[in-house]
Amino acid sequence: MGNQYDVIVIGGGPSGIVAALTAKTNNPDKTVLLVRQEKQAIVPCGIPYMFGSLESTDKNVVADGGLNSAGVTIKIGAVVEVNAEKKTCTLNSGETCGYEKLVFATGSSPSVPAWLKGSQLKNVYIVPKNKAYLDAMIKDLEQFKKIVVVGGGFIGVEV
Ligand SMILES: Cc1cc2nc3c(=O)[nH]c(=O)nc-3n(C[C@H](O)[C@H](O)[C@H](O)COP(=O)(O)OP(=O)(O)OC[C@H]3O[C@@H](n4cnc5c(N)ncnc54)[C@H](O)[C@@H]3O)c2cc1C
Repeated sequence: MGNQYDVIVIGGGPSGIVAALTAKTNNPDKTVLLVRQEKQAIVPCGIPYMFGSLESTDKNVVADGGLNSAGVTIKIGAVVEVNAEKKTCTLNSGETCGYEKLVFATGSSPSVPAWLKGSQLKNVYIVPKNKAYLDAMIKDLEQFKKIVVVGGGFIGVEV
């Protein structure tokens, strides 16, 4: 199969990047594919600064150069199915890739309590690790005078 890899890593956050680089560095002869949903990966720790001190959200992007120069193949898309018997992953594009070893580095996403009425209303946001979403949110925020942050953990406090 043309789309056959020794290692497939699902996820392009810090865990996925380190897993793919570690696999490739220790096994240069093996083929490693990293699949992530975002066109551009961002540094999660820098997200709060995207709302203020960074002049542009582009300054918080993780360049793909390290992965490229290590020889890791990158595909942008969502893995929608894993067939453990056939050892294949199917992407939302319909493309199917085979693997010998599979790493889930699918991370986390913000949770909004289902009981919280109004969470779907306009001008209600979450803080995902997604540059396109945050770019649109930051643009919207410019028009607002009063902002309420729900959640007082470190992300809420920083934001
Ligand atoms: C605002 C904010 C500030 C933070 N600040 C800090 C900090 O200062 N210090 C600190 O240590 N931590 C911080 N964190 C926490 C840090 O973001 C997480 O610990 C880290 O991102 C976890 O990395 P991960 O690779 O496991 O998962 P994630 O970063 O969540 O990455 C998951 C990856 O999996 C991909 N993915 C998921 N499902 C699929 C699928 N089906 N197909 C393909 N790809 C998929 C996603 O596209 C993404 O690329 C912060 C988080 C936020 C939100």
